[in-house]
Amino acid sequence: MGDHLEEKVSIVIPVYNEVESIPHLYAALKDVMEGLEREYELIFVDDGSKDGSFKVLSDIQAQDKNVIVIGFRRNFGQTAAMAAGFDHAEGDIIITMDADLQNDPGDIPKLLEVSKEYDVVSGWRKDRKDKFFSRRLPSMAANWLISKVTGVHLHDYGCTLKAYRREVIKNVQLYGEMHRFIPAIANWVGASTTEVVITHHPRRYGTSKYGISRTIRVVLDLITVKFLQSFSTRPIHAFGPAGLLLGGIGILIALLLSFEKIIMGYDIGGRPLLLLAVLLIILGVQLVIMGLLGEMLARVYHESQDKPIYFIREVLKDEE
Ligand code: UDP
Ligand code: MG
Repeated sequence: MGDHLEEKVSIVIPVYNEVESIPHLYAALKDVMEGLEREYELIFVDDGSKDGSFKVLSDIQAQDKNVIVIGFRRNFGQTAAMAAGFDHAEGDIIITMDADLQNDPGDIPKLLEVSKEYDVVSGWRKDRKDKFFSRRLPSMAANWLISKVTGVHLHDYGCTLKAYRREVIKNVQLYGEMHRFIPAIANWVGASTTEVVITHHPRRYGTSKYGISRTIRVVLDLITVKFLQSFSTRPIHAFGPAGLLLGGIGILIALLLSFEKIIMGYDIGGRPLLLLAVLLIILGVQLVIMGLLGEMLARVYHESQDKPIYFIREVLKDEE
Protein backbone atom coordinates (compact mmCIF):
# COMPACT_ATOMS: atom_id res chain seq x y z
CA MET A 1 0.00 0.00 0.00
CA GLY A 2 3.03 2.25 -0.53
CA ASP A 3 1.23 4.44 -3.03
CA HIS A 4 -0.89 5.84 -0.22
CA LEU A 5 2.13 7.53 1.31
CA GLU A 6 2.13 10.25 -1.31
CA GLU A 7 -1.52 11.08 -0.93
CA LYS A 8 -2.35 14.60 0.08
CA VAL A 9 -4.47 15.15 3.19
CA SER A 10 -7.02 17.93 3.61
CA ILE A 11 -8.28 18.80 7.08
CA VAL A 12 -11.63 20.61 7.01
CA ILE A 13 -12.56 22.57 10.14
CA PRO A 14 -15.84 24.45 10.56
CA VAL A 15 -15.40 27.44 12.87
CA TYR A 16 -18.11 29.46 14.56
CA ASN A 17 -17.06 31.78 17.38
CA GLU A 18 -14.05 29.75 18.51
CA VAL A 19 -11.49 32.56 18.79
CA GLU A 20 -9.75 31.25 21.92
CA SER A 21 -9.42 27.70 20.65
CA ILE A 22 -8.01 28.48 17.20
CA PRO A 23 -4.34 29.20 18.12
CA HIS A 24 -4.15 26.03 20.25
CA LEU A 25 -5.81 23.95 17.58
CA TYR A 26 -3.56 25.31 14.85
CA ALA A 27 -0.40 24.66 16.86
CA ALA A 28 -1.46 21.09 17.64
CA LEU A 29 -2.51 20.38 14.06
CA LYS A 30 0.71 21.77 12.61
CA ASP A 31 2.70 19.62 14.98
CA VAL A 32 0.91 16.43 13.99
CA MET A 33 0.85 17.15 10.26
CA GLU A 34 4.52 18.16 9.99
CA GLY A 35 5.40 14.93 11.76
CA LEU A 36 3.64 12.92 9.06
CA GLU A 37 5.92 14.29 6.35
CA ARG A 38 3.33 14.34 3.61
CA GLU A 39 1.49 16.99 1.67
CA TYR A 40 -1.39 18.54 3.59
CA GLU A 41 -3.67 21.53 3.80
CA LEU A 42 -5.67 22.94 6.71
CA ILE A 43 -8.97 24.38 5.52
CA PHE A 44 -10.64 26.56 8.12
CA VAL A 45 -14.15 27.60 7.21
CA ASP A 46 -15.30 30.59 9.23
CA ASP A 47 -19.06 30.27 9.45
CA GLY A 48 -19.82 33.95 10.02
CA SER A 49 -18.17 34.24 13.46
CA LYS A 50 -18.74 37.47 15.38
CA ASP A 51 -15.89 37.13 17.88
CA GLY A 52 -12.94 37.89 15.61
CA SER A 53 -12.20 34.27 14.68
CA PHE A 54 -11.75 35.29 11.07
CA LYS A 55 -9.04 37.83 11.92
CA VAL A 56 -7.11 35.25 13.91
CA LEU A 57 -7.45 32.75 11.06
CA SER A 58 -6.33 35.22 8.41
CA ASP A 59 -3.24 36.09 10.48
CA ILE A 60 -2.37 32.41 10.60
CA GLN A 61 -3.03 32.04 6.88
CA ALA A 62 -0.71 34.95 6.05
CA GLN A 63 2.25 33.00 7.48
CA ASP A 64 1.48 29.43 6.48
CA LYS A 65 1.04 28.32 2.88
CA ASN A 66 -0.61 25.09 4.02
CA VAL A 67 -3.55 27.00 5.46
CA ILE A 68 -6.67 27.97 3.53
CA VAL A 69 -9.31 30.15 5.14
CA ILE A 70 -12.82 30.44 3.77
CA GLY A 71 -14.97 33.18 5.27
CA PHE A 72 -18.76 32.99 5.04
CA ARG A 73 -20.82 36.17 4.78
CA ARG A 74 -23.07 35.02 7.59
CA ASN A 75 -23.72 31.95 9.70
CA PHE A 76 -24.85 29.18 7.34
CA GLY A 77 -24.40 26.27 9.75
CA GLN A 78 -21.89 23.52 10.29
CA THR A 79 -23.03 21.41 7.34
CA ALA A 80 -22.64 24.30 4.88
CA ALA A 81 -19.22 25.08 6.32
CA MET A 82 -18.13 21.49 5.82
CA ALA A 83 -19.52 21.44 2.28
CA ALA A 84 -17.54 24.59 1.41
CA GLY A 85 -14.42 22.91 2.80
CA PHE A 86 -15.04 19.82 0.67
CA ASP A 87 -15.50 21.94 -2.44
CA HIS A 88 -12.09 23.56 -1.91
CA ALA A 89 -10.26 20.46 -0.72
CA GLU A 90 -7.59 19.03 -2.99
CA GLY A 91 -6.54 16.14 -0.80
CA ASP A 92 -7.03 12.48 -1.64
CA ILE A 93 -8.11 11.96 1.95
CA ILE A 94 -10.34 14.51 3.60
CA ILE A 95 -10.60 14.69 7.38
CA THR A 96 -13.20 16.76 9.21
CA MET A 97 -12.86 17.90 12.81
CA ASP A 98 -14.31 20.43 15.24
CA ALA A 99 -12.52 23.69 15.98
CA ASP A 100 -13.22 23.62 19.72
CA LEU A 101 -10.40 21.24 20.77
CA GLN A 102 -12.92 18.55 21.71
CA ASN A 103 -11.42 16.41 18.93
CA ASP A 104 -7.74 15.58 19.30
CA PRO A 105 -5.37 16.19 16.34
CA GLY A 106 -3.31 13.34 17.81
CA ASP A 107 -5.93 10.91 16.46
CA ILE A 108 -5.31 11.94 12.84
CA PRO A 109 -2.45 9.47 12.15
CA LYS A 110 -4.69 6.64 13.35
CA LEU A 111 -7.52 7.73 11.04
CA LEU A 112 -5.11 7.99 8.09
CA GLU A 113 -3.76 4.53 8.79
CA VAL A 114 -7.24 2.99 8.78
CA SER A 115 -8.34 4.99 5.74
CA LYS A 116 -5.87 3.00 3.63
CA GLU A 117 -8.39 0.17 3.85
CA TYR A 118 -11.72 2.00 4.08
CA ASP A 119 -13.46 4.79 2.19
CA VAL A 120 -15.01 6.22 5.34
CA VAL A 121 -13.43 6.08 8.81
CA SER A 122 -15.68 7.40 11.54
CA GLY A 123 -14.43 8.54 14.93
CA TRP A 124 -16.18 7.06 17.95
CA ARG A 125 -16.14 9.16 21.12
CA LYS A 126 -16.37 6.09 23.34
CA ASP A 127 -15.58 8.13 26.43
CA ARG A 128 -17.51 11.25 25.54
CA LYS A 129 -17.03 14.35 27.67
CA ASP A 130 -20.40 16.04 27.31
CA LYS A 131 -23.42 16.39 29.59
CA PHE A 132 -25.31 13.13 30.01
CA PHE A 133 -28.97 14.11 29.85
CA SER A 134 -28.87 16.94 27.34
CA ARG A 135 -26.29 15.47 24.94
CA ARG A 136 -25.11 11.91 25.45
CA LEU A 137 -28.47 10.24 26.11
CA PRO A 138 -30.30 11.78 23.11
CA SER A 139 -27.28 11.03 21.00
CA MET A 140 -27.27 7.36 22.06
CA ALA A 141 -30.92 7.11 21.03
CA ALA A 142 -30.23 8.91 17.75
CA ASN A 143 -27.28 6.66 16.90
CA TRP A 144 -29.34 3.56 17.57
CA LEU A 145 -32.18 4.83 15.40
CA ILE A 146 -29.95 5.99 12.55
CA SER A 147 -28.09 2.67 12.54
CA LYS A 148 -31.37 0.71 12.42
CA VAL A 149 -32.94 2.83 9.71
CA THR A 150 -29.95 3.27 7.40
CA GLY A 151 -28.45 -0.17 8.00
CA VAL A 152 -25.03 1.40 8.56
CA HIS A 153 -24.11 0.60 12.16
CA LEU A 154 -22.01 3.28 13.82
CA HIS A 155 -21.78 4.13 17.51
CA ASP A 156 -21.25 7.81 16.93
CA TYR A 157 -22.79 9.47 13.90
CA GLY A 158 -22.51 12.89 15.53
CA CYS A 159 -18.73 12.81 15.87
CA THR A 160 -17.17 15.29 13.45
CA LEU A 161 -13.75 13.63 13.43
CA LYS A 162 -14.01 11.42 10.37
CA ALA A 163 -11.87 10.61 7.35
CA TYR A 164 -13.20 10.21 3.84
CA ARG A 165 -11.62 9.22 0.56
CA ARG A 166 -11.98 12.00 -1.95
CA GLU A 167 -14.10 10.09 -4.51
CA VAL A 168 -16.68 9.35 -1.86
CA ILE A 169 -17.11 12.87 -0.54
CA LYS A 170 -17.24 14.39 -4.02
CA ASN A 171 -20.28 12.22 -4.78
CA VAL A 172 -22.22 13.37 -1.73
CA GLN A 173 -24.44 16.43 -1.92
CA LEU A 174 -25.16 17.98 1.48
CA TYR A 175 -28.25 19.88 2.60
CA GLY A 176 -29.65 21.18 5.88
CA GLU A 177 -28.09 19.47 8.88
CA MET A 178 -27.04 16.43 6.92
CA HIS A 179 -23.33 16.21 7.65
CA ARG A 180 -23.82 13.50 10.26
CA PHE A 181 -25.42 11.28 7.63
CA ILE A 182 -22.41 11.32 5.30
CA PRO A 183 -21.37 7.77 6.31
CA ALA A 184 -24.88 6.50 5.55
CA ILE A 185 -25.11 8.39 2.26
CA ALA A 186 -21.59 7.27 1.35
CA ASN A 187 -22.53 3.68 2.06
CA TRP A 188 -25.41 4.10 -0.33
CA VAL A 189 -23.02 5.05 -3.15
CA GLY A 190 -21.05 1.92 -2.33
CA ALA A 191 -18.37 3.12 0.11
CA SER A 192 -16.84 0.87 2.76
CA THR A 193 -17.21 2.20 6.29
CA THR A 194 -15.58 1.48 9.63
CA GLU A 195 -15.05 3.23 12.97
CA VAL A 196 -12.15 3.78 15.35
CA VAL A 197 -12.23 4.84 18.97
CA ILE A 198 -10.86 8.36 19.45
CA THR A 199 -10.17 10.64 22.39
CA HIS A 200 -12.64 13.33 23.34
CA HIS A 201 -12.04 16.35 25.53
CA PRO A 202 -14.46 18.60 27.38
CA ARG A 203 -14.91 22.04 25.86
CA ARG A 204 -12.21 24.38 27.24
CA TYR A 205 -13.20 27.68 25.62
CA GLY A 206 -16.43 29.13 24.29
CA THR A 207 -19.79 27.39 24.41
CA SER A 208 -21.52 24.60 22.51
CA LYS A 209 -23.62 25.83 19.61
CA TYR A 210 -26.25 23.15 20.04
CA GLY A 211 -28.78 21.94 22.60
CA ILE A 212 -31.35 19.20 22.87
CA SER A 213 -33.55 20.73 20.14
CA ARG A 214 -31.11 19.37 17.60
CA THR A 215 -32.34 15.81 18.25
CA ILE A 216 -35.71 16.61 16.68
CA ARG A 217 -34.08 18.01 13.56
CA VAL A 218 -31.85 14.96 13.36
CA VAL A 219 -34.88 12.65 13.43
CA LEU A 220 -36.59 14.64 10.66
CA ASP A 221 -33.42 14.55 8.58
CA LEU A 222 -33.26 10.81 9.13
CA ILE A 223 -36.72 10.41 7.59
CA THR A 224 -35.56 12.41 4.57
CA VAL A 225 -32.36 10.42 4.20
CA LYS A 226 -34.21 7.12 4.48
CA PHE A 227 -36.82 8.18 1.96
CA LEU A 228 -34.25 9.45 -0.55
CA GLN A 229 -32.12 6.39 -0.04
CA SER A 230 -34.92 3.94 -0.67
CA PHE A 231 -37.22 5.69 -3.05
CA SER A 232 -35.74 8.78 -4.67
CA THR A 233 -35.53 7.01 -8.01
CA ARG A 234 -38.85 5.10 -7.59
CA PRO A 235 -41.31 7.11 -5.50
CA ILE A 236 -44.25 5.14 -6.86
CA HIS A 237 -42.79 2.13 -5.04
CA ALA A 238 -43.06 4.02 -1.76
CA PHE A 239 -46.64 5.25 -2.11
CA GLY A 240 -48.09 2.77 -4.60
CA PRO A 241 -48.32 -0.38 -2.47
CA ALA A 242 -50.11 1.38 0.41
CA GLY A 243 -52.44 3.06 -2.10
CA LEU A 244 -53.32 -0.20 -3.82
CA LEU A 245 -53.83 -2.01 -0.52
CA LEU A 246 -56.06 0.64 1.07
CA GLY A 247 -57.95 1.29 -2.17
CA GLY A 248 -58.38 -2.45 -2.68
CA ILE A 249 -59.87 -2.94 0.79
CA GLY A 250 -62.17 0.02 0.16
CA ILE A 251 -63.41 -1.46 -3.10
CA LEU A 252 -64.03 -4.85 -1.47
CA ILE A 253 -66.12 -3.25 1.27
CA ALA A 254 -68.00 -1.18 -1.33
CA LEU A 255 -68.71 -4.35 -3.34
CA LEU A 256 -69.97 -6.11 -0.22
CA LEU A 257 -72.30 -3.20 0.59
CA SER A 258 -73.50 -3.02 -3.04
CA PHE A 259 -74.31 -6.74 -2.87
CA GLU A 260 -76.30 -6.22 0.34
CA LYS A 261 -78.14 -3.26 -1.16
CA ILE A 262 -78.90 -4.58 -4.65
CA ILE A 263 -79.31 -8.32 -4.09
CA MET A 264 -80.48 -8.48 -0.48
CA GLY A 265 -82.31 -5.18 -0.53
CA TYR A 266 -80.88 -3.95 2.80
CA ASP A 267 -80.68 -0.26 3.60
CA ILE A 268 -76.97 0.75 3.72
CA GLY A 269 -77.33 4.52 4.15
CA GLY A 270 -76.49 4.48 7.86
CA ARG A 271 -73.67 1.94 7.79
CA PRO A 272 -70.29 3.09 9.20
CA LEU A 273 -68.65 0.66 6.75
CA LEU A 274 -69.92 2.83 3.89
CA LEU A 275 -67.94 5.74 5.25
CA LEU A 276 -64.87 3.57 5.68
CA ALA A 277 -65.12 2.29 2.11
CA VAL A 278 -65.35 5.82 0.70
CA LEU A 279 -62.44 6.97 2.85
CA LEU A 280 -60.21 4.06 1.85
CA ILE A 281 -60.92 4.43 -1.86
CA ILE A 282 -60.16 8.16 -1.81
CA LEU A 283 -57.03 7.57 0.25
CA GLY A 284 -55.87 4.83 -2.10
CA VAL A 285 -56.35 6.96 -5.19
CA GLN A 286 -54.55 9.87 -3.52
CA LEU A 287 -51.57 7.74 -2.56
CA VAL A 288 -51.17 6.35 -6.06
CA ILE A 289 -51.41 9.85 -7.52
CA MET A 290 -48.85 11.05 -4.97
CA GLY A 291 -46.50 8.31 -6.14
CA LEU A 292 -47.00 9.33 -9.76
CA LEU A 293 -46.34 12.98 -8.93
CA GLY A 294 -43.21 11.81 -7.15
CA GLU A 295 -42.17 9.95 -10.28
CA MET A 296 -42.52 13.11 -12.33
CA LEU A 297 -40.54 15.12 -9.78
CA ALA A 298 -37.83 12.47 -9.68
CA ARG A 299 -37.50 12.64 -13.46
CA VAL A 300 -37.24 16.44 -13.44
CA TYR A 301 -34.72 16.25 -10.62
CA HIS A 302 -32.45 13.68 -12.19
CA GLU A 303 -32.67 15.03 -15.72
CA SER A 304 -32.23 18.72 -14.96
CA GLN A 305 -29.48 18.40 -12.38
CA ASP A 306 -27.47 15.57 -13.85
CA LYS A 307 -27.96 13.53 -10.70
CA PRO A 308 -26.68 10.06 -11.44
CA ILE A 309 -28.80 7.08 -10.47
CA TYR A 310 -25.67 4.96 -10.07
CA PHE A 311 -22.07 5.49 -8.98
CA ILE A 312 -19.24 3.74 -10.81
CA ARG A 313 -16.08 2.65 -9.02
CA GLU A 314 -13.99 2.29 -12.15
CA VAL A 315 -14.33 1.57 -15.86
CA LEU A 316 -12.14 -1.04 -17.53
CA LYS A 317 -11.78 -0.89 -21.29
CA ASP A 318 -9.21 -1.13 -24.06
CA GLU A 319 -8.15 2.27 -25.26
CA GLU A 320 -7.83 2.18 -29.08
N1 UDP B 1 -20.07 25.25 14.07
C1 UDP B 1 -20.19 25.94 12.86
N2 UDP B 1 -21.36 26.59 12.58
C2 UDP B 1 -22.43 26.55 13.42
C3 UDP B 1 -22.33 25.81 14.63
C4 UDP B 1 -21.14 25.16 14.91
O1 UDP B 1 -19.24 26.00 12.08
O2 UDP B 1 -23.46 27.15 13.10
C5 UDP B 1 -18.81 24.56 14.38
C6 UDP B 1 -18.23 24.89 15.75
O3 UDP B 1 -17.41 26.03 15.72
C7 UDP B 1 -17.45 23.62 16.06
C8 UDP B 1 -18.27 22.53 15.39
O4 UDP B 1 -19.08 23.18 14.42
O5 UDP B 1 -16.17 23.67 15.45
C9 UDP B 1 -19.14 21.76 16.38
O6 UDP B 1 -19.91 22.65 17.16
P1 UDP B 1 -20.08 22.47 18.74
O7 UDP B 1 -18.74 22.18 19.35
O8 UDP B 1 -20.82 23.64 19.26
O9 UDP B 1 -20.98 21.18 18.83
P2 UDP B 1 -20.91 20.05 19.99
O10 UDP B 1 -19.49 19.60 20.07
O11 UDP B 1 -21.39 20.70 21.23
O12 UDP B 1 -21.83 18.98 19.46
MG1 MG C 1 -17.86 20.65 20.41
